[in-house]
Amino acid sequence: MTRVFSGIKPTGHLTLGNYLGAVRQWVERDQHRADALFCVVDLHALTVEHDPARVRRLSRQAATLLLAAGLDPERCTVFVQSHVDEHARLSYLLECVATDGEMRRMIQYKEKSVKERERGGSVRLSLLTYPVLMAADILAYRTDEVPVGEDQTQHVELTRDLAERFNQRYGPAFVVPRATPPPVGARVMDLQEPGAKMGKSHESGAGIVYLLDEPEVVRRKVMRAVTDSGREVRHDRERMPGVTNLLEILAGCTGADPEKLAGEYASYGALKKDTAEAVEEVLRPVRERHAALVADGGEVDAVLRRGAERARAMARPVVDEAYRAVGLLPA
Ligand code: ATP
Ligand code: MG
Repeated sequence: MTRVFSGIKPTGHLTLGNYLGAVRQWVERDQHRADALFCVVDLHALTVEHDPARVRRLSRQAATLLLAAGLDPERCTVFVQSHVDEHARLSYLLECVATDGEMRRMIQYKEKSVKERERGGSVRLSLLTYPVLMAADILAYRTDEVPVGEDQTQHVELTRDLAERFNQRYGPAFVVPRATPPPVGARVMDLQEPGAKMGKSHESGAGIVYLLDEPEVVRRKVMRAVTDSGREVRHDRERMPGVTNLLEILAGCTGADPEKLAGEYASYGALKKDTAEAVEEVLRPVRERHAALVADGGEVDAVLRRGAERARAMARPVVDEAYRAVGLLPA
């Protein structure tokens, strides 16, 4: 059976970008057709300045939202990265395969390190090595497919390179995975800044729709979205980034084709109104189930405990074999 792995970082509240770019595929497609693991990758949240209590709170919230969005723990494995030691164990081995130059070429490292410096902070070494830990997350499960948004494809390419290099040097320990971004919604842009990706750790707020936003807040954010000069509704990322983003969001929420949708609108107002309604339609059940799960307390923790046990049992033999393959003496 196809093995699927993907994750989400507890660096902020989950956004519509996370949902359309990743979580929606996990819920609607992957958990039904594959042996799938979904992980709250909390170690990755420590790569930038963080508040311990907030990371803890956001980790539980992310796990709760994944269940609320429809992941079924009977069908897939939901767990927290730091509960399974194999990720960090394998990451070290992969650091011995990856190169310094490779890490410095990663776009996300360049962008996030600039941001950390602008904030007056220093750049943590773990921000540079983050893609190696991500490769370990994926390779530890002999993953075939990695459903992620477009911004993560460079990291999955790196994961493939590391797997191939390791296999060539030390024998076939890993499966070489591939990224499987969704056909629509793989890159949701900020509503106020359609040239930039909607990201949960950005501070702008007004351009980001959070999964737990109340209906009036969603409506206000979408109705105030920056559109393009002119009146035409056209799907054109280069020339009409604002309108195209709305078309992608509407298409992502309704399952329609964004290019076809463009032909159905004669004004920005109507497009915004329908987009706001479609987003609200998608978020309402998630928000309601989230509230019910929070009221229930213990269920999420129990799911995460079982998930970590299952994940550990899968990862341990793979990582043990990799340790032997590179020449380390078995314990
Ligand atoms: P951060 O700003 O801390 O990096 P993020 O919003 O990018 O947060 P991640 O945890 O890095 O969230 O990514 C989780 C998943 O969501 C990944 O598969 C990523 O590709 C996807 N994703 C993130 N932002 C978007 C977006 N704007 N559009 C589509 N997919 C996205
Ligand atoms: Mg990200």
